[in-house]
Amino acid sequence: MSSDNAAPDNETVWDVVVVGAGPAGASAAHAAACAGRRVLLLEKAELPRYKTCGGGIIGPSRDALPPGFELPLRERVHAVTFSLNGKLSRTRRSKHALFGLINRPEFDAALVDAAKDAGAEVRTGVAVTRVEQHGPAVPDRRTVAVVLSDGGTVLARAVVGADGSASRIGAHVGVKLDQVDLGLEAEIPVPRTVAEDWAGRVLIDWGPMPGSYGWVFPKGDTLTVGVISARGEGAGTKRYLEDFIARLGLAGFEPSISSGHLTRCRSDDSPLSRGRVLVCGDAAGLLEPWTREGISYALRSGRLAGEWAVRVAEAHDAVDARRQALNYAFAIKAGLGVEMGVGRRLHTVFARRPGMFHAAITGFRPAWRAFTKITRGTTTLGDLVRTHPAARRALAAMDRG
Ligand SMILES: Cc1cc2nc3c(=O)[nH]c(=O)nc-3n(C[C@H](O)[C@H](O)[C@H](O)COP(=O)(O)OP(=O)(O)OC[C@H]3O[C@@H](n4cnc5c(N)ncnc54)[C@H](O)[C@@H]3O)c2cc1C
Repeated sequence: MSSDNAAPDNETVWDVVVVGAGPAGASAAHAAACAGRRVLLLEKAELPRYKTCGGGIIGPSRDALPPGFELPLRERVHAVTFSLNGKLSRTRRSKHALFGLINRPEFDAALVDAAKDAGAEVRTGVAVTRVEQHGPAVPDRRTVAVVLSDGGTVLARAVVGADGSASRIGAHVGVKLDQVDLGLEAEIPVPRTVAEDWAGRVLIDWGPMPGSYGWVFPKGDTLTVGVISARGEGAGTKRYLEDFIARLGLAGFEPSISSGHLTRCRSDDSPLSRGRVLVCGDAAGLLEPWTREGISYALRSGRLAGEWAVRVAEAHDAVDARRQALNYAFAIKAGLGVEMGVGRRLHTVFARRPGMFHAAITGFRPAWRAFTKITRGTTTLGDLVRTHPAARRALAAMDRG
């Protein structure tokens, strides 16, 4: 285990303990520490750690970063090539950057540093096994016991579960899911001539299986190439990635990392808390169902969880704690929940008719413009449908099929 600040806390009761130091956990720890509370951030890996992810940073992710945070951008994207299972390729360009690309180990470690700078204590190499809100490990009803894999216990007034898509804290809360996908990725170092061909341009391929797609995200001399599809289609997803890489002429280059990771979307009625425990990010199943964009969801829900965990920590009894936790759930549902609802509908339509999406985005200027506005963060899917009758009508027509 490594720890940053000196912290011999046998009997310390932390205001907020955050489990998991991805973007959701780092954001939660930052927000709670900025409120002046004693915050402990626990991470099972040593940092920086690898995370299977395209590293696409759209406007809402950029806007949810801690103040003054400098994005370690590897690439600014000005062009997108779209293809339909390798065919009908078309590149659309933009004068202004559409979104940015980062390497997750670097980005996540910098977010943890920001939380540390705000006053959070960080302990890495510490895996949390479970949380207990009753029983002998819990000294009183205002306290949660966080049990570690080495047998130790840490006490807190409130806990934020930000431990990703295999979340133990999510299981404690009872998070319910209605979409689980498998993402496979390869980090492929390429020669300079190949890298130059991809500079400033990404590729998005609508895939052969319902709801699947693939991407090439260039980061200097390495291309992140990945595909995502419904879980349970493991062999087909692996074949899609192999075919995709071969089709792009990249099969001759040895990946430095090949990995896979699940993404999970919560069902509409899934809980976001239990007692003094809140969940956020992937642990809560907060993810855009169509694109599976999750960094902005992690940053935004993490910040809200950190802010509301402070109130839960201050609650004097179970009723007050519950009231504050419900306020957190309300804030999530009113913002990210609405966006997820639109994303879910888009995902259903996309799974049925990928060709229609391809035709719209490559051939219909308003659809491309909507894409650029969403990636830049000047609008969201939810806002677009709420404020544009034409977008609402188009979605309703697509729903009908
Ligand atoms: C293939 C793929 C590509 C993606 N591409 C993009 C993209 O381009 N853009 C985008 O916005 N999103 C993308 N996503 C989604 C994005 O990666 C996630 O939504 C995001 O990482 C969620 O952040 P998080 O902090 O909730 O969880 P994570 O980033 O998974 O962090 C969870 C942390 O908790 C730690 N942890 C887990 N269990 C424990 C434990 N028991 N005790 C202590 N620590 C624990 C883990 O080590 C980890 O550091 C992609 C996902 C996949 C699978």
